[in-house]
Amino acid sequence: MVARPEHIISRASISENALKVLYRLKAAGFEAFLVGGGVRDLLLGREPKDFDIATDAHPEEVRDLFRNSRLIGRRFKLVHVHFGREIMEVATFRGTHDDGDDTEGRVEDGMILRDNVYGTLEQDAWRRDFTINSLYYNIKDFSVVDYTGGLKDLEAGLLRVIGDAEQRYVEDPVRMLRAVRFAGKLGFRIHPDSEAPITALGERLEAVPPARLFDEILKLFLSGSGVATYELLRHYDLFRHLFPMTDASLAEEEGGFPHTLVLRGLENTDARIAEGKPVTPAFLFAVLLWEPVRVRAQQLMAEDMGEIQALQVASEDVISQQIQHVSIPKRFSAQTREIWVMQARLKRRNGKRAARLLELSRFRAAYDFLLLRAESEEADLQELADWWTTYQESDEGQRAALVRGAPSAGSKKRRRRRKRRPAQSDNADDGEQTPD
Ligand code: ATP
Ligand code: MG
Repeated sequence: MVARPEHIISRASISENALKVLYRLKAAGFEAFLVGGGVRDLLLGREPKDFDIATDAHPEEVRDLFRNSRLIGRRFKLVHVHFGREIMEVATFRGTHDDGDDTEGRVEDGMILRDNVYGTLEQDAWRRDFTINSLYYNIKDFSVVDYTGGLKDLEAGLLRVIGDAEQRYVEDPVRMLRAVRFAGKLGFRIHPDSEAPITALGERLEAVPPARLFDEILKLFLSGSGVATYELLRHYDLFRHLFPMTDASLAEEEGGFPHTLVLRGLENTDARIAEGKPVTPAFLFAVLLWEPVRVRAQQLMAEDMGEIQALQVASEDVISQQIQHVSIPKRFSAQTREIWVMQARLKRRNGKRAARLLELSRFRAAYDFLLLRAESEEADLQELADWWTTYQESDEGQRAALVRGAPSAGSKKRRRRRKRRPAQSDNADDGEQTPD
């Protein structure tokens, strides 16, 4: 235990709402600790993303203390205390099943299905994933409680699994993703013992429910260290268990264009997060899955399908295969598809089309995606990207001139219109026949 004067956590850096919850639990006679990422990040001088609270009060007792609270019962029972948009997660100390008969709550291959047995503070500390995530800030005396050696590892920049790493990964394969995520985000090394089993156990990720992997993917790639995390996932050969189609296309052209698009997309996302700009899961999945979609669409076009339809069919194929591994809620996958299909539409700028495309809610994302492709793909897209950049910056008169000067992407309707209004352009028709 480290007493108050010897660590840097001050109450001023803890969210007021977290303090409220801690104090109310204490006033009701319960033990109450800040734990997990909140304590870890405060000790590192970083701003915590959220605050988790551990207590000896049972979930129902917690709920009764806070009007603004809700019992959550997915993997284990916890209480969410709501303060506007801020949510405090309050969990009761948990123990383990290891009372000789260790089979309860486990499936055959060792994965834990239920672990909702209550325990003591110390038991709770030993069942957490990494030593640096198992530090507790006690609201009673403002000390930090450390059973597992987390403070030492925090100082050394070391991510270390609590207990036997192989067994802990088998119990919950998502811990391998968490190891990579924290290593990427904090710039920590993974302890050799914690690192060794990862690659061999990677395929166990395929037994994790796709919905849980979706949550984890967002944390991996939308937390501001996407590039570092991606490189670690590839390094430990975990990426292929999450995005097998993408991985196959990367393997074919290692170091080539597809790799570049993913990297640039993630760089872009990291930069946006650093600037406080919003990022969307739809764009992330568009980036991560574009290469298989592009390749599939090209096959279909070689079989004489029009570009737009080919992209629609390819999008459908790729998404339906992908969600067998990592689910993508419909509201996001619908946007992802639009971003992809818009890649073909953006070529068709004649008549009123450009103006209409600009009005679409998905225009901005599709345009950003085009910029990314222009930087990363073999196909020459820079001219098209520049055209759209200029178009957006122009006034109405200039826009009309741009549209007249735009190379054609051909459809019968537009061709007729051009005859009526002979333009000064030397438009070549690429023969694309798909109506949109
Ligand atoms: P973040 O900054 O992403 O919130 P975090 O460490 O707080 O990081 P959470 O997912 O919020 O991560 O989990 C809170 C705490 O719960 C962790 O710090 C860890 O102690 C424990 N925990 C979470 N997931 C697991 C797991 N799969 N196995 C064991 N312990 C876990
Ligand atoms: Mg947390």
